[in-house]
Amino acid sequence: MRYKEEEYLSLSGIQHFLFCRRQWALIHIEQQWEENLRTVEGRLMHSNAHNSLKTETRGDLIITRALPVFSKELGVYGVCDVVEFHRAAEGIALFGRPDRYLPCPVEYKKGRPKEADMDRMQLAAQAMCLEEMLCYTVKLAYLYYGETRHRVEVPITGEMREKVKSVFAEMHQYYNRRHTPKVKPTKQCSACSLKDICLPVICKNRSASAFVARMLKEGADEETA
Ligand code: SF4
Repeated sequence: MRYKEEEYLSLSGIQHFLFCRRQWALIHIEQQWEENLRTVEGRLMHSNAHNSLKTETRGDLIITRALPVFSKELGVYGVCDVVEFHRAAEGIALFGRPDRYLPCPVEYKKGRPKEADMDRMQLAAQAMCLEEMLCYTVKLAYLYYGETRHRVEVPITGEMREKVKSVFAEMHQYYNRRHTPKVKPTKQCSACSLKDICLPVICKNRSASAFVARMLKEGADEETA
């Protein structure tokens, strides 16, 4: 299947979707967003990655920042924090360069490596976009963690590719139905940037946007009363 541009979803949404499908739907379908310390820190770190020179060359390495990527097959678009191009005979040709290079995405994260695979899945999705755009198989990518100031090597496996495909297919189904799952409180809710909007206990059987609309209306009614 090849998606049309107007059907593309945000690539970075895969981390929200894998964290909690409801959180993803609140952000990407109902457009709710609540900044907490975690999201602000994450944004600052991303702006550091994105604000520097767009492209620099260091010996055998070309570093490109904030590279827009997309995939028709996955139906996604996004931005790679950093894509490194390592000079290698088996790599791809780059416009205006005599040598060949291996593309390698690097994603910046503010925290430390997690057991859950959402960071690796996001990175694999970036790699798959680059593969489609550059017609080259990306075998290796990196996650850089701000808390440990260390980068972790992530081989892009066939298993990861299959999971990325099936997760995005599921996201497209949710999006097409404009479906926001009901609240199912879990221990991860305490670390959720949307917990105040989601209100796991109060709006157990209602959509958050309906709840927010009702609260706003009650506030307006009080003002005019
Ligand atoms: S508060 Fe819990 S249920 Fe609600 S969006 Fe966040 S993680 Fe999901």
